[in-house]
Parts: sequence; structure tokens; C-alpha cells
Amino acid sequence: MTGEAHTNSYYAATAKRQSDYPALREDASCDVCVIGGGYSGLSSALHLAERGYDVMLLEANRIGWGASGRNGGQVGSGQRQEQDVVEEMVGKADAQRLWDLAEESKAVVKSRIAKHSIDCDLKPGILHAACKPGDASEFPSYVDKLAHDYNYPHLRAVPKAEIREMLGTTRYHGGILDSDSAHLHPLNYALGLAQAADEAGARLFEGARVTAFQDGSKCRIECNGYSVNANHVVLACNGYLDKLEPRMAGKIMPINNFILATEPLGEVRAREIIRDDVAVADTKFVIDYYRLSADGRLLFGGGENYSRHFPKDIAGFVRKYMLRVYPQLETARIDYAWGGTLAITLNRMPDFGRLSPNVYYAQGFSGHGVAMASLAGKVIAEAVAGTAERFDVFERIPTRRFPGGTLLRWPGLVLGMMYYALRDKL
Ligand SMILES: Cc1cc2nc3c(=O)[nH]c(=O)nc-3n(C[C@H](O)[C@H](O)[C@H](O)COP(=O)(O)OP(=O)(O)OC[C@H]3O[C@@H](n4cnc5c(N)ncnc54)[C@H](O)[C@@H]3O)c2cc1C
Repeated sequence: MTGEAHTNSYYAATAKRQSDYPALREDASCDVCVIGGGYSGLSSALHLAERGYDVMLLEANRIGWGASGRNGGQVGSGQRQEQDVVEEMVGKADAQRLWDLAEESKAVVKSRIAKHSIDCDLKPGILHAACKPGDASEFPSYVDKLAHDYNYPHLRAVPKAEIREMLGTTRYHGGILDSDSAHLHPLNYALGLAQAADEAGARLFEGARVTAFQDGSKCRIECNGYSVNANHVVLACNGYLDKLEPRMAGKIMPINNFILATEPLGEVRAREIIRDDVAVADTKFVIDYYRLSADGRLLFGGGENYSRHFPKDIAGFVRKYMLRVYPQLETARIDYAWGGTLAITLNRMPDFGRLSPNVYYAQGFSGHGVAMASLAGKVIAEAVAGTAERFDVFERIPTRRFPGGTLLRWPGLVLGMMYYALRDKL
């Protein structure tokens, strides 16, 4: 098999199984060819195979090699944007539909884990933590809005004194606890989806990099020197799309985000910093997000860059952010540190679409893809089968291309992102 091995992460070190799917070694044909083996691709393959389609999934490296095997594991509610922003963007009716779809995305994750007995440390709760008093002051009204307008009863505003006790830090001014959201071991979840897709009859390939494809009534996909003919294609490469499809590339910007894992902290120290074993995400532009692993490590995500390269010392890079929240972890050993690439869109909403009537894509989950990419597979499968109403709700979201198109979108945007990242520090 060609392609790259998993990055050296806590997740790869604690994977419950190693995937071992073959490389493509002959020309082939299928109903649907899925390109990319993260949640979007795996979920598409699983839902399509269950509907009886003959599916091939081509992953350039290993299953879950991309963002799906490296992320913070937070299964959040709603969209990446808050509901008031979504309402302004698409109007009240579609905002309600997008909220309902987001609710379904969490249910898809939970029900797949239960149905396929995926062992991935699923636990409830995300605590959103306000870094500024102004952020905290808006929380109670947002909790009321979601309860009232969206009939969502699972949010609770957490006062300053309580959040400081829950998280063992004086950094925050208040919070929102979302008890219906969740967190999990992302790579084990991806590997479980792959196994389920395989068992449903999808043919999975690793080390299978697609180098080109042509759409038409029959699509032709080039991979490892062989070709695949397919009636439909699902493009699910997200932040790793690179130059494969310039028509989609201008709608996303790949950014790199980083995580470390401390040594196991022991039950007492672990519960001093996250009393209730929930996941945490703060309100900065470049979010700090963290949670405990099943073996009591702090998995802390913080810091991003917009270059083609990761920092040389990822552990040192992320540790700065961790120590701002938890100076008491100054002496904690860092056992793993890694980075991953995700795709953001200009409006931070997911970008679903068709390049031609039989070529579908979903990308740009903007850091909110564990649940949403899992749902993407379900609505893509519906659309392939001829019922596209729910796919169309996503496709209707107004998306703009990054200024400068594919090649020139970096310099201006990087400056913009750095400006907002700098504001976090003020
Ligand atoms: C560090 C980090 C932390 C994150 N934290 C969270 C979080 O806590 N909660 C949350 O909801 N989201 C989070 N995200 C975002 C989330 O991980 C992604 O939105 C989600 O995994 C996207 O899944 P995907 O399948 O679309 O893409 P990916 O998982 O990136 O999969 C794309 C796959 O396509 C393959 N590929 C690319 N090109 C080709 C080709 N030419 N041929 C064949 N295969 C190809 C790649 O190898 C890759 O495996 C985070 C992301 C990162 C990087």
C-alpha cells in the first residue's frame, strides 16, 4: 500500500484497530465512487451501501488519516455559526431547517456508534467558556432564544463562580453547558464507520490517491495508474483537496490546527481541571478546546497557522496556550503533539454542492465537522437516490469564493486571520 501512515498522535497510538484495506490494482467500475476516507466519505459510503448502491471509496492514505482522525472530538450542536447569524444569512425558515439538520447530525453520530458498537469513548457535554465578560453577558439570552425559538432545552448558562470551579481555572467569565452535545475519540469513530461501510458492502481502498477525474454521464476517475468508471462521484477531500478540483478549491481555505496530549494526569488532577469530564471550547477567534482522554490525559487544542507547513515544535506551540489556562500543568509531560488541516469557508457554514448533476461534494465544515460531515454522507446518499430536498437546504446557503481565487487567496486572508487572532490577545 502507498500513501502516508497516520500522524503520530494520541489517537493513532490508541486506535482500537488498524485498517488494512487494499490499494487499487485494476480498472474497475461502480455506481458511486467516493473520494476521501474521512467522515464525509465514510458516511457517504455507508449510507449509499445500505441503500444498495455498489460503492467504491478511494482514500489516498489511511482511513481517517485527515482531519477525521486528528480532531478535538467535539460533537457540537447547531452550525459553526450561532443561530442569530444563520437566521440573518438564510432567513428564519432555512435557519430552522439547518438547526433541525444539525440536531439530526448529532443523532446520526450517536446512533451509528450504538448500532455498530463503535468503541470510541463517547461522553456527553460541551461547555462553552467565555474569555471576556461581554461574551458571558450574552449567554443567558442565547440560552433563552434556543429554548424558545428552537425548542432546545439542553443549554444552561453557567455563572462565573461555577465555571471556575468546574474547570479549575480563573480564565473564564461564564459559560454555556450543552448537555446534549458530546465528545469522542475521533479516529476510533472513523475506523468504526469504515468497518460498518465495509460490512454494508462498500469496497474501501487505502493508498489510493485520485489524480484526476472527468465528469460526464459516466465519470472516469484516475487512481494509481488505473481508472474507475462510475455513475456518480462524491468528492470528500475537504482541507486536503489541494489541486484535485479547482472549481471547489476557491470556496475553501485550508488552515492548520494543533493539539497536544499530556501524560496521564491521574484521577484527582484530571478532575481538578475538568470536574465533570465534559469537553470545553472557548469564545476566542482561534479557539482553545480541550477535554480529558479515557486514560486521563488533557487533550488540548490551541493555535493555528495558515501556512503550508506545521511549526517545528508543535508541543511547544500548543503548550503556550494550555499554560494560559492551566499554569498548574507547567510540569506535566507532553506525550504527543500533532496537527491537522481543516477547510473553512468565508461564512463558516458548510459548503455542499454539485459540480454536475452526478458529482456531489461537501466540504468547509469550519471546525464543526464531526457531526456535520457525518450527516453530509446521509444527505448526499439521499440526493444520489433522487431525494435532494435536504441536500438543497445546504446548497442554498449563500457561499462566496475567497477573494483572489485558488492561487491568490492566501496573502490577504492570512493577514485577515492574523488580525483576528491578534484581537484574541487584547
Ligand atoms: C486539529 C483539528 C481539530 C478539530 N476539532 C474539531 C472538533 O472538535 N469538532 C468538530 O466538529 N470538528 C473538528 N475539526 C474539523 C473536523 O475534523 C472536520 O470538519 C472533519 O473531520 C471533516 O471530515 P472530512 O471527511 O470532510 O475530511 P477529512 O477527514 O480531512 O478527510 C479527507 C480525506 O480525503 C483524502 N484525500 C484527499 N485528497 C485525496 C485524493 N486526491 N484521493 C483520495 N483521497 C484523498 C485525505 O487523505 C483525507 O483522509 C477539527 C479539525 C482539525 C484539523
